[in-house]
Amino acid sequence: MSHDMHVGIIGAGVVGLSTALWLQRQGVKVTIIDRQAPGNGASFGNAGLFADYARLPFANMDALKSLPNMLLDKKSPLSLQAGYMLNLIPYGWRFVRACMDKNYQHGRAALTEIQNLTVAADNALFDQTATRDLIKAEGCLGLFSTTESYQAARDGSLAERARQGVAMELLSATEVKALEPDIADFHAGGVFYPNTRFTLSPVQLCQRYSEEFLRVGGELLCEDVIAIQPAAEMSQGVDVQLHNETRKFDRLVVAAGAASTSLLKTIGLKVPVVSERGYHLTLNGEGRTINRPVGWLDKAIFITPMQDGLRVAGTAEFAAEDAPRNEEKVNVMLEHASEMLGAEPEVKSSWVGSRPSTPDSLPVIGQVPGCPQVSLAFGHGHLGVTLGAITGQLIGEQMLGLKTAMDLTPFAVTRFG
Ligand SMILES: Cc1cc2nc3c(=O)[nH]c(=O)nc-3n(C[C@H](O)[C@H](O)[C@H](O)COP(=O)(O)OP(=O)(O)OC[C@H]3O[C@@H](n4cnc5c(N)ncnc54)[C@H](O)[C@@H]3O)c2cc1C
Repeated sequence: MSHDMHVGIIGAGVVGLSTALWLQRQGVKVTIIDRQAPGNGASFGNAGLFADYARLPFANMDALKSLPNMLLDKKSPLSLQAGYMLNLIPYGWRFVRACMDKNYQHGRAALTEIQNLTVAADNALFDQTATRDLIKAEGCLGLFSTTESYQAARDGSLAERARQGVAMELLSATEVKALEPDIADFHAGGVFYPNTRFTLSPVQLCQRYSEEFLRVGGELLCEDVIAIQPAAEMSQGVDVQLHNETRKFDRLVVAAGAASTSLLKTIGLKVPVVSERGYHLTLNGEGRTINRPVGWLDKAIFITPMQDGLRVAGTAEFAAEDAPRNEEKVNVMLEHASEMLGAEPEVKSSWVGSRPSTPDSLPVIGQVPGCPQVSLAFGHGHLGVTLGAITGQLIGEQMLGLKTAMDLTPFAVTRFG
């Protein structure tokens, strides 16, 4: 099949690349524009999980109640930088609204439905790009500090996930030891999700996606997009202003991660997507065998065995993308990781990057109202790796006028009012 249109995509992260590759499969001509090399935004430094179990919005009443204490606790995974407060006002009140039971239920239903589509979309993308060597299917473990926190989860989120049909096994500390002998006895047991996959290198996955994109005729521009100018008529397409030239496309996809908000201001669209920064440390993993991602859920960190070492990833710091790093965060993560591993390993490197986060934990997927030549694909928060491939498919289906695999109303930008 071929479609006579030229699509521009802003952003060569996991979401933009997945969208480009889906469109190419349908015979569409695509240009990606990114100011960095592919996969060097948030898609560089994540924990690498295709987190099939993640079907509950973060915005819920329990989270709302625990917010004040978490923000006061210096060692809590959640924090916000004072200079970023103003940006959080439009986000904050919508977060509170999203926590209300009816809205939470809507969010949960939408996440469940999109998650049910991810495995097929991921597999098609892995096959298209021959990247299965970077994907491991070993499941993942989530551990709890105490029998009390474990029991609370069993009564709460784990029971909810079981009702959603998520495959899981509840394990005692002894059963965890049998699966992961090199994890220390810091916990009271946990949950094993057998269907979770992970990548050995998020950035290499993006690089390989990009290589395949170029191999079949895609164009990649290393440029900073300054503004977007859609024509009044859809048939006239959209101009994309770069530093030294303006490029015209029939259609445009904004997949610029946390920076999408500022880009969209150039067309007068205000979107409450914020920068929720996460950190990672790469530890020397020599002499240790960790077979799969292992999370300490009370501390909100994961250790994932990656190609270049053990990656400790986590924290949620609401701060500008370019704000100075908070070294205190890195130290706390190292403390937790050392407890998980029973010794302090050598730190090879560390990183900070911005998740594009929405107040209701759902991504933005769909067209700009009144301007259907511009599609939006961002705001994946903690789930960009997990939902990247299916997002690309849904955006592409809508753009080509095909029946979308699910109703996109829950992801429409209009939900923010
Ligand atoms: C610590 C951490 C752990 C995580 N763990 C997981 C996980 O285990 N599983 C999971 O599913 N998700 C995880 N995530 C989330 C995931 O990484 C993100 O949701 C995902 O990478 C977002 O991808 P993206 O393509 O939308 O954005 P990005 O990867 O940030 O890509 C956006 C791109 O747009 C480009 N860009 C922006 N503005 C412009 C402009 N004006 N001009 C040109 N280019 C521009 C940027 O350079 C960038 O390359 C984690 C995130 C973090 C921080």
